[in-house]
Amino acid sequence: MHTHSIAAIRRHLSNGDYSSKELCAHLLARIKQLNETNNAFIEITEKEALSAAEQADNTRASGGAASLLGVPLAHKDIFCTKHVRTSCGSKMLKNFVPPYDATVVDKLAASGAITLGKTNMDEFAMGSSNENSHFGSVANPWDNARVPGGSSGGSAAAVAARMVPATTGTDTGGSIRQPAAFCGITGIKPTYGRVSRYGMVAFASSLDQGGPMATTAEDCALLLESMAGFDERDSTSIDQPVDQYSAELNRSLDGLRVGLPRQYFSSDLDAPIADALQQAIEELTRLGVSFVEVDLKNQSLAVPAYYVVAPAECSSNLSRFDGVRYGHRCDGPVDLEDLYKRSRAEGFGREVKRRILIGTYALSAGYYDAYYLKAQKVRNLISQDFTQAFENVDVILGPTTPTPAFKQGENSDDPVAMYLNDIFTIPANLAGLPALSAPCGFVEGLPVGLQLIGNYFDEARLLNIAHQFQQVTDWHLQMPADIRA
Ligand code: GLN
Repeated sequence: MHTHSIAAIRRHLSNGDYSSKELCAHLLARIKQLNETNNAFIEITEKEALSAAEQADNTRASGGAASLLGVPLAHKDIFCTKHVRTSCGSKMLKNFVPPYDATVVDKLAASGAITLGKTNMDEFAMGSSNENSHFGSVANPWDNARVPGGSSGGSAAAVAARMVPATTGTDTGGSIRQPAAFCGITGIKPTYGRVSRYGMVAFASSLDQGGPMATTAEDCALLLESMAGFDERDSTSIDQPVDQYSAELNRSLDGLRVGLPRQYFSSDLDAPIADALQQAIEELTRLGVSFVEVDLKNQSLAVPAYYVVAPAECSSNLSRFDGVRYGHRCDGPVDLEDLYKRSRAEGFGREVKRRILIGTYALSAGYYDAYYLKAQKVRNLISQDFTQAFENVDVILGPTTPTPAFKQGENSDDPVAMYLNDIFTIPANLAGLPALSAPCGFVEGLPVGLQLIGNYFDEARLLNIAHQFQQVTDWHLQMPADIRA
């Protein structure tokens, strides 16, 4: 049963082929066993899950039919979960037990989903390899010596290892799409404002967006229908009806115009990834899609602009962790300043400190105009490139990552090399556009992903294209040999 998609699980549960409790018990046993090697989970909520599953089975027996009734999933440990520790991958929040659920957690529970646990992640979602977690790194199920990507590395590895059919993730600069690509699964970062950020620990508030990760686009559609929607508790949430993503999966692609950004198919891209994309382009052409080149001329500025804007916002957001109100507090402070300094020095890891320092510097009075303001202007130019491109095309297609998953430790001493991993994903965050990654092939046994970037609120179209692609390809059905067994 652990290889079943959510769509299949829904059928099996409603046919009575197995109960939610049986399914959850089976998955929990797998999680406990596989976690020893891959460390995808930080928290396993077995007791709560089994009792929720039993309740879901009873609800079903008395006629309940919520869309995800009895469907197991796991949340990235950035989403607050009532009475369940939410660490955000940090020593700072090692003992933080929220008194409330994030809206995303709430909404999925209201649709009947069962939470099996919390997944590992880079500390405060800062990273591209999950090596920045206080709880240790996560192994990529395709090759344990390689990273699963980050920051939602635990969420991606958990789905790839079929520990759970789906997970939540968050994406500030690529953290849903890049790990999805590295682990051979499907993930979508919705339009900024589509999914509530309430109860999602803030990294860079103008970029952060939650979304689903699963094996198929169809499952992502089913999850996003439940996760999305207006939330008055998030002032950036957008009050617009949620599309029925799953009802639009079967729309024909005939006549669709897709843009290929010249800048995404440059020499930065590994040749075998370019080949995999070319095959995907041919596949989509057979489905009636036509392709045209588009020019996103300011793309090369996206990574530098992001590494000013994101640290600036993080330095402000993370100032709340002061040893007084939340999280880690140092032993025996001699005065208030000592309390702040030592609590923060002890509670945050290296990468988080690096970002706080860069961000504080960029926001300081003497440098604000030169860095932060300039980065915001560049951000505008990047958005304008997309606006212009979408005058001629419906969707943009490119790679998700420049290379397949790299080895653990390979980029650890070179932050810039690490940052460049997000070269193709960051632009959509800066513009606030929806973007999806779906498996499109293998390079030396490692999965690679294609990325679709849509216009604002065009999630339905992205999911539709990915679903149609998945009807004629089987990249998304591949799994690591030991997992299949
Ligand atoms: N890898 C990027 C960073 O470290 C993006 C992270 C994210 O999307 N949360 O900032």
